[in-house]
Amino acid sequence: MTKLWPFGILPLVSEQNLLSKPCLATITSFCKRKGFVYPSSEIYGGLSGIYDYGPLGVELLNNIKRMWWKNMVREREDIYGLDGSILMHPKAWEASGHVAGFTDPLVDCKDCKSRVRPDKLPGWRLKKDNQSGKWQVLEIGETKCPICGGELTPEVRQFNVLMETSLGVIEGEKMKAYLKGESCQNIYLDYKNVIDSHSPSLPFGIGQIGKTFRNEITLGKFLFKTREFEQWDIEYFVNPSEADTAYKKWKEIRWNWFVNNVQLSEKNLQWRQHTEDERIFYATDAWDIDYKYPWGWDELEGLHHRGNYDLTQHGKFSNTDLGFYDQEKDEKITPFIIEASGGPNRCFLAIMLENYHEEEIKGRQRIYLSLPPYLAPVQAAILPLVRKDEKLVETARKIYDELKGRFVVQYDEQGTVGRRYRRQDEIGTPFCITIDSQTLENETVTVRERDSMEQERVKVGEIEGKLSPLLSLP
Ligand code: ATP
Repeated sequence: MTKLWPFGILPLVSEQNLLSKPCLATITSFCKRKGFVYPSSEIYGGLSGIYDYGPLGVELLNNIKRMWWKNMVREREDIYGLDGSILMHPKAWEASGHVAGFTDPLVDCKDCKSRVRPDKLPGWRLKKDNQSGKWQVLEIGETKCPICGGELTPEVRQFNVLMETSLGVIEGEKMKAYLKGESCQNIYLDYKNVIDSHSPSLPFGIGQIGKTFRNEITLGKFLFKTREFEQWDIEYFVNPSEADTAYKKWKEIRWNWFVNNVQLSEKNLQWRQHTEDERIFYATDAWDIDYKYPWGWDELEGLHHRGNYDLTQHGKFSNTDLGFYDQEKDEKITPFIIEASGGPNRCFLAIMLENYHEEEIKGRQRIYLSLPPYLAPVQAAILPLVRKDEKLVETARKIYDELKGRFVVQYDEQGTVGRRYRRQDEIGTPFCITIDSQTLENETVTVRERDSMEQERVKVGEIEGKLSPLLSLP
C-alpha cells in the first residue's frame, strides 16, 4: 500500500480498496447503525425506495457533491453553474418526450403480485418506440419471478415513471405538473438565458446538481435505485463538427474523476456501450461507466452523445429560436449536446462498498472505512487521553476550538482511548489527535492515521499545516 503516513502525498488508490466487497445487507445496516442513511418515515413503516441521510451521511454526500461542483464547474472556465427548479412548465415534459415515452416495461408475478421489469431479467430483449413509449418484445427470457419463483404474466405492460402533482389553489382550475423526471431538463430551458447573460462562445457547458423523482418499479438495491434521488449533469454544447472529439474528451474526464478523485479502483469500473436496442433513437452513441456492485456490473454514470434533439424539441414546442451563432466558424447552428449524467447517491453507495473493511486484530474485530480523507464526514477527532485530568481536557478543548473553524473535528472523551479509536475508524475519521501528559510538557500531540493505525508526534502549532493538504478537496 502507498503509505498515507508519515504526512505526504495521498495515494491514488490503496490496495485495500481492491479487496473483496461487503454485501449490500451489511452496508445497509451499517449505514443505519452509524447514522449515514435511514429508511424514510421509518416510524410509520417506511416508504419504499426513499431514504434520509443522517448526521454522517449528509456530510459525506455534501463532500461528494462539493468535489463534483469544484472539479466540474468552478475549476472550468467553459462550464456555467445552475440550480434549476423542481417544477417546470408541463409542456417541457411533452417536448422532451417524457409524457409519452418515459416508460418502463412491466410484468406481474401471478403468485406474489410483485411488479418486475422484464428488461432486467436474463434472456429478455425489448425495444422501446420512443415516440409512443411502447415496448416491443424481441425475445422472451426468464419467466420465473426473481422474488418468489412464481410465474410471471406473459403480457408486458407500459408504465410511465413520471410523478405528477398539481399547481394552483382552486379545485378544478389546478394545472397538472410533473416533478422532475430527469434533473437536466432545466439546463435546456435556461440555455438561452445563460447565453444572453454570459455570452459564452462554443464549446461551453452548463452543470447542475438537482433532485429527480421517478416512480421506479424495481427497488431493493438500497441507494442504487430510489424514487427520489439527485443527479449531477453536465450538458456540453458544441459545434456538430467537434462533437466526436468533445465526446471522447468527456468520457476521459469522467473516468479519471472517478479513479483519481473519488478513488474508486479501476478493477471495479468498466465501460459499457449501449446496444442499438437500448439507445434512445436520436443519440449517436452512449456509454455507461459501470461499477461492480454486489449483484454485478451496473450503471454509475452515463455519457451520451445526444445530437441536437433536446434543443430542437424545446425550440419547436416553445416557439423560441435556440440556435447559436458560432463566431469562430461564422455559421448559425443548433449545437450538439454531450452529456455526462450521474448520481451522487449511486456514487455514495459505490464509495461505501469500496471503503468498508472488516478485519481481526488480536482476536477483536475492527471495522474501518478507508474513505479518501477529504471526503470523510469527520476529518479529525480530538481525544484527551484521560477524561478526569482537567489540564488535559482544557488543552484538548483549546486545540478543538482552534481547529473547528478549519476542519470538521469531533471532540470525544467517552471511554478508553482504544474504544475511541475504533469508533472513529468505523466512521472513516482519517486522523485522531490525542492529547496526553507529554502535550503539557512539550506542546506535542500524537496524530494517528486510520488505515495504518500508525502514530506520529506532531507539534500543536504544526497540526493545521500538516493536515490541510490531506483534507482539502482535490
Ligand atoms: P438505470 O437504468 O441504471 O436505473 P438510467 O439509465 O435510467 O439508470 P439515467 O436516466 O441515465 O439513468 O440517469 C443518470 C444517472 O442518474 C444514473 O447513472 C444514476 O447515477 C442516476 N440514477 C438514475 N436513476 C436513479 C435512481 N432511481 N436512483 C438513484 N440514482 C439514479
